[in-house]
Amino acid sequence: MDKTFKKLKSINYIMKYMWITEKRYILFRIPEIILKSIQPFVMVIFPKIIIDQLLYSESEYLFNDILKIICIMVGINLLIKGALVFLNTCLTNAYNSFDSKHVINIGKKIMSLEYKNVEDSRILDIFQRAKNTNYCEDMYSAIAGLIANAITCIGLFAILAQLKLVVILLILVVVVINVMCNKRTQQYDYQWYVDATPYRRVQDYLLGVMHGFQYGKEVRIYKLEEYISKKYARFSNKFLRSLFKVTIKFLKLNMVTTVVNLIQEGLLYVYLAYKVIVDHLTIGNFTMLLNSVQKLTECLIGISANVVSIGRSVQYIDELYYIMHLEERNQSNNVSLPDLSAFVIEFENVSFQYPGCDQYVLKNINTKIYANQKVSIVGTNGSGKTTFIKLILRLYQPTEGKIKLNGIDIQDIDYESYMKSFAAVFQDYKIFAYSINENIAMDEEYDSELIDLVISKLNMQKMMDKLPKGKDTVMYKFLNEDGIELSGGEQQKLVIARALYKQTPILILDEPTAALDPLMEYEIYRCINEEISDKCILFISHRLSITKYCDDVLVFNQGNIVQQGTHEQLMKDESGIYYEMYTCQAEFYEDQKQK
Ligand code: ADP
Repeated sequence: MDKTFKKLKSINYIMKYMWITEKRYILFRIPEIILKSIQPFVMVIFPKIIIDQLLYSESEYLFNDILKIICIMVGINLLIKGALVFLNTCLTNAYNSFDSKHVINIGKKIMSLEYKNVEDSRILDIFQRAKNTNYCEDMYSAIAGLIANAITCIGLFAILAQLKLVVILLILVVVVINVMCNKRTQQYDYQWYVDATPYRRVQDYLLGVMHGFQYGKEVRIYKLEEYISKKYARFSNKFLRSLFKVTIKFLKLNMVTTVVNLIQEGLLYVYLAYKVIVDHLTIGNFTMLLNSVQKLTECLIGISANVVSIGRSVQYIDELYYIMHLEERNQSNNVSLPDLSAFVIEFENVSFQYPGCDQYVLKNINTKIYANQKVSIVGTNGSGKTTFIKLILRLYQPTEGKIKLNGIDIQDIDYESYMKSFAAVFQDYKIFAYSINENIAMDEEYDSELIDLVISKLNMQKMMDKLPKGKDTVMYKFLNEDGIELSGGEQQKLVIARALYKQTPILILDEPTAALDPLMEYEIYRCINEEISDKCILFISHRLSITKYCDDVLVFNQGNIVQQGTHEQLMKDESGIYYEMYTCQAEFYEDQKQK
């Protein structure tokens, strides 16, 4: 009962989902159902009339009569088939439109999820399946088929009422065997689909590596052809092996149903032939009953296949339902963003573990960051600096403790307005295959004056002048054959421009100058100090020279803030890690100078 209720809930969900996404698809199904349920009767009733006329009519216009009947039969068939072909084209069209809208829905959904979900392979597998709209199509075809088959069955039962109960029982036995085999087939198919999803995901990834522009350099320099092809072939083989195994299972089930159906047909011929000889059944009725039994068997098997298909689609639809109802980023918070003219971000006993990991990456962090402060975050690799930033940006939630903005837990603040207060440049920033303008504004519509202002602040005018179409130059050749690729330093400037364009009170720069030459680096720091001195800026940088210009330095080590203060204060502690790191780097530069 519970299961049936769940199925009905899923059917209801997908009906609504398809109706909202593409109404035409449902509307075209209605005439299709009516036509499909009428269609079988044409070939059951007309042959009987023709045969009986041929054998028993004494009319002198027999040929004309037969011709008329044949014309009506062909005409009706033509009309039904023509209408079905037309509807099929309309349905294909509507389905394609549904498919593209569905991909957008799914894409939007994944982009609005909590960040942690994007690295959960179980969720990624479900996404992989939920992207596929075939099961929505299957579900609708199955529901339409079920209704059409049910209507046809009622009519056929009326025709077959004159037969003995034993014949009906024979039909039912054959149908039950077919149903069981069908159900098994669908179960094997679904299990195979689930088992093969990870192989497909790996194959998709490797295909991306083979022709993905971003991997092109590594592929050529390290000659990865063999390496990647071997990996692909290995997963391909696993995929094919699993497909072969399931195909053998299908074959066995297919053989069972074929044999059972043939036996039924043979028995039926014997029974009806007996009725013709003994009970004087007319040859027309013989044909009609034979056709009716065959059609009824087909319809009943069709109904069972429809039911199984609905059941199978329900499994996918449950996954779609699961994905579409995954919690989006902090939907529940509704405290409005406090006034940021003066603010303090406070970490209160914050500890953090990545989802699925036992180790703490941050341990009991307590610190404060104020408006207009320039804060440098330094420390060894893997000490938790980027994670600290990710928590401020609400990409993850603290495992323990709280981060507060002006005393309010940041998790409670309205997400959209909170995120509008931050701009960030990550180490692994991404440039999109669109124009410079769009890459800065991150929108198709942009404020040209503001872009020009940012470009001049960052002294990027010369760089723009060199580009073939200036700020309209498109990046990469994926989408435009005139596209170009910027140098690492130029790309880094571009993403800094993107961050400034956002005009936020808080700016986060994670290794912002790693790819810049010393002159460009100087230019960036000059800009940050002179042009955007009104912002709160958090830097993560391994170049400790910048810390001199910062109001506060947080020194991370193994997930803890082990020192905090200005550069001068920290340098006084000669046993501290900061002193060691700074002098080590300074000595390196001294050595380089002497050389
Ligand atoms: P830093 O920025 O100081 O180099 P990170 O904050 O990036 O360090 O990483 C701190 C630790 O967390 C590292 O040991 C790193 O391997 C681990 N880590 C980073 N990201 C993830 C993740 N998504 N899942 C699991 N562990 C992670």
